[in-house]
Amino acid sequence: MSWVNEKERLEKYAKTFDKSIVLKVKDAWPFKVWNWITQNKKDTVSTTFGNRIYSPALSSAKGLEGIIPHEARHVKQYRWFGFMIHPLMGIPLFNLLYALFLFPVGLAIFRVLMELDAETYRLQKLAEVKKIQTKSAGKELDRFVKILAGKAYIYPMKESWIQFFADKFKKKFN
Ligand SMILES: [Zn+2]
Repeated sequence: MSWVNEKERLEKYAKTFDKSIVLKVKDAWPFKVWNWITQNKKDTVSTTFGNRIYSPALSSAKGLEGIIPHEARHVKQYRWFGFMIHPLMGIPLFNLLYALFLFPVGLAIFRVLMELDAETYRLQKLAEVKKIQTKSAGKELDRFVKILAGKAYIYPMKESWIQFFADKFKKKFN
């Protein structure tokens, strides 16, 4: 069942992380171009711009609910880079940094750190509400490292380097 049927409930949940959050169906043309570049034929990935979380209509409500803490953390990151005023204010700086390090494939440190921060936050939240055990959060982050090192994120850097940073983030699970 598509998350769109439960949009109201999910948006309410998302707003507990940042009041400004709005959920949107990910169907605009830039996403189609992006999926073509990354050869992603069946898009199930949610993307955040400013205070907007874009999710493909075919994503399930349960799936989206599980990753809302991760995407909400990105909204918070946009807020940091928007000088705490509004996540929308962070779009120029955040996306500049994200894109700057997009092209020198292999050295996308900004992307790696922002993604690890978001996923660490998500796992912390899951542990808080007892959806996972604190000790398995580290293993979950290791799984994310493998995804982050791959095609979906255009190979930001060597997996072993990402793992090095991920191990630092793991200290937050104690
Ligand atoms: Zn992310």
